[in-house]
Amino acid sequence: MKIYNSATHQKEDFRPLEEGKVRMYVCGPTVYDNIHIGNARTFISFDVIRRWLIASGYEVTFAQNLTDVDDKIINRANEQGRTAEEVATEFSDKFIGVMRAANVLDPDVRPRATKEIGAMIGMIKTLIEGGHAYAADNGDVYFSVRSDSAYGEVSGRNIDDLMVGARIEENGDKRDPLDFALWKAAKPGEPSWKSPWGEGRPGWHTECAAMVHRYLGTPIDIHGGGSDLAFPHHENECAQATCAWHEGFANTWMHTGMLLVDGEKMSKSLGNFFTLAEVLEKHSAAALRLLMLQTHYRSPLDFSWERLEGAENSLARIAGTCRNLKWAADHAEGEPNAELAAALTAAMEHASADYQACMDDDFNTAGAVAAYFQLVTEANKYLEQAAGAVDEDAARTCGAVIFAALAQLGVRLPVIEESLPAELAAVAGELVGFDGDDVDAAAEAILEARAQARAAKDWATADAIRDRLKDLGLAIEDTSAGSRIKRA
Ligand code: AMP
Ligand code: ZN
Repeated sequence: MKIYNSATHQKEDFRPLEEGKVRMYVCGPTVYDNIHIGNARTFISFDVIRRWLIASGYEVTFAQNLTDVDDKIINRANEQGRTAEEVATEFSDKFIGVMRAANVLDPDVRPRATKEIGAMIGMIKTLIEGGHAYAADNGDVYFSVRSDSAYGEVSGRNIDDLMVGARIEENGDKRDPLDFALWKAAKPGEPSWKSPWGEGRPGWHTECAAMVHRYLGTPIDIHGGGSDLAFPHHENECAQATCAWHEGFANTWMHTGMLLVDGEKMSKSLGNFFTLAEVLEKHSAAALRLLMLQTHYRSPLDFSWERLEGAENSLARIAGTCRNLKWAADHAEGEPNAELAAALTAAMEHASADYQACMDDDFNTAGAVAAYFQLVTEANKYLEQAAGAVDEDAARTCGAVIFAALAQLGVRLPVIEESLPAELAAVAGELVGFDGDDVDAAAEAILEARAQARAAKDWATADAIRDRLKDLGLAIEDTSAGSRIKRA
């Protein structure tokens, strides 16, 4: 398996530190509001990555934090006259709920910043003792960036360039404008904790380093997040962890591309966002995920409602093919053509090999999905050519493998109701004098009457049958294998 490491800018052979095991961390949200589908893109991408690692036989331990103390949470709480804790609890719960609705697997560990203060204080003490951090007179503690000779390696920056860009702030407490806060002295009305440097709270970058160390142990195999986190967040996490424990931090850095609307990054501050919850009210989680998978996780992804609609249609088409394969297998008639069946089996093997190769090549989900779209086309062709005399085994297997390949990526195909509604018997009575309550027999009677009407060019009767079925949400499908009534 090859994974693109954003710190080295290359695809590398993936070799976990401990054979058969993967330790993986992805920065979680700051819980001050509902997440938008840009955030969701990052979390869904790593869900797919994690699922593929598991499918490849690795025992994966996946940790993700909740940043539940932060300026944004405090500001939101002040605006709403609530406590920061109330705001954080509300949006933590909502985040967990909406991730589940999006079919994202729960992490194995979900530490919360406010519950990890002790671990963070411990790390900061170690950094001060090692000469990598200092307490300022105002009660803040800063990380001394120049004390880390490797600073910049995660995000490909160099200290001198950063210096040019650094704002010369009024903050006289920092020894160097590049330094960043590990601990912030308490301000009135803000949540705070006791520390050796007085009351205060951790800086944002502090929690992830401490949590990775505590829950996964350093170094880990994979550290991920959106590409906007590479600098300064990931750079700073890495600086703290490597300077505190001297063990390395993350072997592979993975960064997802941004989700865009009209060419601009979706973000809260620009106001160009749709929350994940509102999108899932209108569309299936499977369609949203399929849309996302059709673009490689590192590339920018242009979101539009039309594209989401398109993904929904693709799913319906694939589900329709799976259902037709099953129906054709259930109703197979006549001697199957062995050559056609062999070609379908070969197409399945081809799709599976393609899919595997794509996923092993830095999680090329676009290619993986395309391999199965191709199989759907082949399956439709097969059904057409076999004309009823299908190979039951091949048809059934084909439907199952398409379903399973998508499920593997977390895309659940919509279940298309198989059975016909009980009212069909009564409607058959009304339309063609059918007597009884066997729905399948009623369907046969209706189809028979329609076939007779059409043979007699009695279009009015044939249309009346079609219209009455439409009222029940049913349609007649005429295929080369015969006609059937199905849910529209
Ligand atoms: P935040 O709560 O802002 O830290 O964001 C949570 C996660 O969402 C981070 O990994 C961000 O990099 C990611 N993220 C934010 N905006 C986008 C976007 N437009 N597209 C993809 N990922 C994003
Ligand atoms: Zn982080």
